[in-house]
Parts: sequence; C-alpha cells; structure tokens
Amino acid sequence: MSGNRWNFDNSYLQLPSVFYSTVTLNKVKNPRLVILNEALAKRLNLNIEDLKTSAAIAMFAGNELPEEAARIAQAYAGHQFGHFTMLGDGRALLIGEHVTPHNERVDIQLKGSGRTPFSRGGDGRAALGPMLREYIISEAMYALGIPTTRSLAVVTTGEEVYRQKALQGAILTRVASSHIRVGTFQYGARFTELEDLKALADYTILRHYPHVTDKENPYLSLLEEVIKAQAKLIASWQSIGFIHGVMNTDNMTISGETIDYGPCAFMDVYDPDTVFSSIDSAGRYAYGNQPSIAGWNLARFAECLLPLIHEDADSAIEEAEKVLQQFRGYFMDYFYEGMRRKLGLVEEEDMDRELIQELLSLMEQYRVDYTNTFRALADNQYPCAPLFQSTEFQKWEKRWKARLASQSISVEAALKLMQETNPAVIPRNHRVEEAIEAAQRGDFKVIHELLRVLSTPFSLGEGDVKYAEPMEDGDRPYQTYCGT
Ligand code: AMP
Ligand code: MG
Repeated sequence: MSGNRWNFDNSYLQLPSVFYSTVTLNKVKNPRLVILNEALAKRLNLNIEDLKTSAAIAMFAGNELPEEAARIAQAYAGHQFGHFTMLGDGRALLIGEHVTPHNERVDIQLKGSGRTPFSRGGDGRAALGPMLREYIISEAMYALGIPTTRSLAVVTTGEEVYRQKALQGAILTRVASSHIRVGTFQYGARFTELEDLKALADYTILRHYPHVTDKENPYLSLLEEVIKAQAKLIASWQSIGFIHGVMNTDNMTISGETIDYGPCAFMDVYDPDTVFSSIDSAGRYAYGNQPSIAGWNLARFAECLLPLIHEDADSAIEEAEKVLQQFRGYFMDYFYEGMRRKLGLVEEEDMDRELIQELLSLMEQYRVDYTNTFRALADNQYPCAPLFQSTEFQKWEKRWKARLASQSISVEAALKLMQETNPAVIPRNHRVEEAIEAAQRGDFKVIHELLRVLSTPFSLGEGDVKYAEPMEDGDRPYQTYCGT
C-alpha cells in the first residue's frame, strides 16, 4: 500500500483507552469500488491509480488494512431527540489520521464496516443508497463552501443488508478534520475520570484550537471557539437552506464541520417550519429551529467542561454561562453577514436586517423556491411569478436597488458578488433520489453527472438547467428516511 502514499499518524490512540475500543475486522464477501473522489484524493496527495487496486479496495472495505492503520471504534454518548444515551461508533471504523504534505491532519473512517463493541442491537452495516446520499450531499456542501466532512470512496460489499427489505451493502470512506463530537465530551464527562476528560479537552485543543493553549482559561476559550465555529456553521446552513434533520449532540462536531448526512435535505419552498425527516414528527429539527437547537447542544457541551473551567462549581457555571450567552449574538452576526452577501450588500447599514427580513416574509408568503429566488435576484432576471409581480415585492426591490446604488462598489460588482454567493444549483431532492436509484440498478452515469454539476454550484451550463429546477409538484412534501 506504500504507493498510495497514506501517511498515517494516529494521535487518537494516545488518549486514555476509555475513549475507544479496538475492533477486529469484519471482512466482506466481494468488495467493489463504485465511486472514487479523485479531486479529494489529489488534495490528500494520494495516487488515484493506486486507489483503484485490489489492495486499496480491500482497505476501503475494511478487509485488509495497512499495518500503520488504526482499528478503532470511538466511544461517545449523546442526546438523541433530547434523551441521553450511550452510543459510540456502532458501524464505523477509524483507520487512522492521514497527514498531508501541507500538514493537514484528517481522520479516515469507514462507515458501514461491521459490528463494533458499540453496535448495541445494530448490524454495523450500511446500505448503498444512504452511503451515496452522504457522498453526494457532503461533496455538494463542500463545493458550496460549507465546512463539512468529505467522502473519498464508496464500495459495495457484495453482501445484503436488511432494512425492511434486502438492500445492497456498502461502505463509505469518510474524511473529517476529526470525529470528536459534543457527544465525545458527554461520554467523557459522564463515564470517565476527570483526568480522562481533561486529556480529551487538551487533545482537542491541540488538534483544533491550538492558539487557546496560552489563554488564561483554555477550557473556557475552547467553549468559546466551539460556540463561534458552530454559530458560523449553522448560519451558513440557514443561508443556503440546508436542513440537517438529526441535530443530536453526537452529530455535532467540535471542529465545526457538518457531519452525519442522514435524513438531511435542502429546502425548496421557503418555510421555516420545513421538516424532511420521517422520524422527526415533532419538528424538533425543523429549519427554523436549527439555531436554537445548536444553542441547546452547546449548553450540553458547556456542562461537560464545567469541572475543567473552575474547581468551584458555581464559578464554573457563571463563567460558562457568560460565554454561552454569546452564541445567539455570534449566530445573528454570521447569519446577517451571510444574508447581506446574498443581497450584494457589502457595507453594513442599520436598515439591512429589516430589508432581509422583509424579503424572507414575502418569500414565505408567496411560497417561492428559496435557492432560485436569490439566484433570480443575483442574475437580475425575474421569472414570471406572483412574488415578482406583486406590488409589495416591487416596493421592496426599489429600496434594495437604491441601497445597492448607494454603495462604494458598483451595482454590477454587487451582482457579481451575489452570483458567487447564491448557488444556481443545490442537490435537489428528486435529483439525488434519481441518481441513487440509477446507481442501485448499476447505472452510475446519473450520479456522475449530478456530482459534476454540483461541483460548481455557482455556475450552471446551459445544458444543465434541469438541475436547478425544483420538483414539479413543489408542494408535495418530500420525506427523507433515517434510512441507515
Ligand atoms: P446516526 O443516526 O447515524 O448518527 O447513528 C446514531 C448511533 O447509532 C451511532 O452510535 C451509530 O454508530 C449507531 N448506528 C447507526 N446505525 C447502526 C447500525 N446499522 N449498526 C450499529 N450501530 C448503528
Ligand atoms: Mg451520528
């Protein structure tokens, strides 16, 4: 495997061993590489041809790993829909941290690689559809400029998995700046000794926020960094119309990357109550709730850090609360900064937030497509639709255009900025489904076409306009299934 230029350096193994379990490999029958992310491979300094060899496929399948690879499942807990549970990697295998020539350290994890000590009742496996879904959406998010884990490869296993019916088994190779979650800290706080929790916090600081080491209270600063990173992340989800669908604390990273693409989807019609996930009947993780849920999750993170922040519990709470309270402000600042960019407003003015909110209310009232409405504004080409013909919109537009004209940059420059900010194409639910269905029949042309279009979301070739169109019957509720 040396030709692949994997450069493993598995620092997670230096943590107290309570944070992981060693896993024996669960070999699969007949692994076949069905998709390989060549652009990502290049970025990681991996040789593409080498990644197509049987040795590489054996690695992607978890059948045979290079000697330097790790073989661990990470321990974590988490609040799932508000309820605390012990979890851990029940179907994932961390095979190491690859360090690139640019000194970037990334986790290489196999998802769907079989049972681990944390599998509880599960089979440790994954089906092809959900793994391709994670591949498509994570790569789309990356191209949209949103922090995210990435997808290097999918192999089918040649084995069936049972989810109400028999499905093709598959394994995704996921690349992440780390898999440390809020849930990892919850596990540390609840189930390990204080010195173990401290080791986890120190490790996390060194890996993700090394500059806080010298701060007066590094653990309080860690909390503040994570709050900022998550405020920024959730603001970017909101401005792009992304709904994660299952924002449990185990699915919230410390790095600020989006992780665990299960029942996620992009919103078509603008409606803050939008929920796609079939398991979220109460709408806990609806689009409009994402910021407050993030705040709730971060409060759980803060609780874990309390004994490290101050030895006196009351003082610790007081200090942590002060930091936690900043989340809303950070989120609002990032959100409006993003929304201003969407409207080409480069200089901040008092009336901006009102202008943005007014547009959003009109969009909600007229039930328009979120992505295409902003893109129409950016392209300065409005479709013949009730919103654009309404006097309310025309009044709003007049104020917005006046505001654009008053800036130090030209209106053309502002529109150009808008075109670089408002995607022409997002992974539309029906296109994602279509690509997955074709792949399940063995036809990978559709998914490659979709991935090609999604890799440059801010420009759309003439032949690709169909990818920008919402599903014809746009009001029909789309449901994603936890489908894991
Ligand atoms: P998720 O909903 O993917 O975030 O998973 C929540 C938890 O369930 C994690 O601890 C997973 O590892 C575990 N899990 C999900 N699916 C399986 C499965 N098929 N077998 C074992 N564990 C699983
Ligand atoms: Mg998860």
